[in-house]
Amino acid sequence: MIETLLADPENEGNALRHPLAELYEEYRSLLYQIDRITRISDRYQNVSREEKDALAGRYNKQLRQLEKIARISDRYQSMMRDLNEALKDASTKDALTGIGNRRMLMESLKAETARAERLERPLTIVLIDVDRFKSVNDLYGHEAGDKVLVRIANAIRSGVRDYDLCGRWGGEEFMVIMPEVPADEGAVVVERMREAIAGIDMVADDKSVQISASFGIAERRPGERISDTINRADAALFDAKRNGRNRYEIAA
Ligand code: GH3
Ligand code: MG
Ligand code: MG
Repeated sequence: MIETLLADPENEGNALRHPLAELYEEYRSLLYQIDRITRISDRYQNVSREEKDALAGRYNKQLRQLEKIARISDRYQSMMRDLNEALKDASTKDALTGIGNRRMLMESLKAETARAERLERPLTIVLIDVDRFKSVNDLYGHEAGDKVLVRIANAIRSGVRDYDLCGRWGGEEFMVIMPEVPADEGAVVVERMREAIAGIDMVADDKSVQISASFGIAERRPGERISDTINRADAALFDAKRNGRNRYEIAA
């Protein structure tokens, strides 16, 4: 329309023709620029959408990798926990009987002695030795002997009270640590334990195996070193053996 007006020779002399031509030129130039800007903006939007998609893809991939790593780390940690547990068990438990071993007993003795001394509380220890165990092995074999030790360990474990500690001192010897307990009270627990062990009903080679144990009880004296308390318990145990076995003696 405007182009027709401008091209018409009849308007050649019109005073408005020149300004109109300029205005029209300006208008077309603006249209062209708007068109360019629109195209650039579209292109930019396309690029930024693609970038966004690529970024989201990378982010999701990394997230999945992180989740995988977290799962592996969880598994690794629980494996480490199990391993630590097994290691702790192996270092403090007796492999045959499953009760505490000598190391565990020594550590408990140290801790309980320090506590008894600090709080001026009683502490009683009991040494237990299986009677005539050599003849059990000789008569029925070492394997039957091992079974007897497991049965005795179970009887000791069932016999102790909540706060007592028990373990295998070595060979066919066991120990019970009784915090907060004087010797005469400990003797009541020991007597029940002695009966339980003597009552173990065990058969080997179709013969009933006679089982019993002797006990030496010692209450820690104030200021006494633990090795001296153990020695007194050992002497009391020796007395119990000498006095006929299957019994306890309390250290002087
Ligand atoms: P007592 O009444 O004087 O204690 O007699 P005993 O035969 O028990 O004493 P002795 O110390 O002579 O014998 C202990 C025996 O315990 C000898 C050893 O072969 C046996 N023994 C030690 N540890 C184990 C073990 O782990 N398994 C088995 N089967 N026997 C063991
Ligand atoms: Mg012995
Ligand atoms: Mg013995």
